Amino acid sequence: MHDEPIDPFNGDPADPTAGLDDPGDDATPDPLTDVERQDVLEDLADLEIYQALLAPIGVRGLVIECEDCREPHYFDWDLLRGNLRHLLNSGRPRVHEPAYDPDPDHYVTWDYARGYADGVHDTLTEGTEDEPGTPTATQ
Ligand SMILES: [Zn+2]
Repeated sequence: MHDEPIDPFNGDPADPTAGLDDPGDDATPDPLTDVERQDVLEDLADLEIYQALLAPIGVRGLVIECEDCREPHYFDWDLLRGNLRHLLNSGRPRVHEPAYDPDPDHYVTWDYARGYADGVHDTLTEGTEDEPGTPTATQ
């Protein structure tokens, strides 16, 4: 069982996305760096886990403190996924498109979701000694 999502193109010189970098075209924004792309892919993978764990207990999405507006924005799971995919494809974040008239009680932060997922993971692996000892890196 793998704890960390794996980027299939990580370190692969034959990365099929490498050809997307066309510095001659001014109309396209700078593509994400490998590190940024990796971050987005990891966020997407985390998102799947968080939604699977939290949606059944009534959580509708995540709340993100916006650095531009200095206000919390509430994003449904689908919206979050769409935004991350958009970022991955276009290289720039989407204009703020938070959920309409959200109920703050139904949204949690990334940190909360991460902590919750870690807690569930610990509970599931507690007492089972057959898992290879992979140290979990805290981010
Ligand atoms: Zn904002």
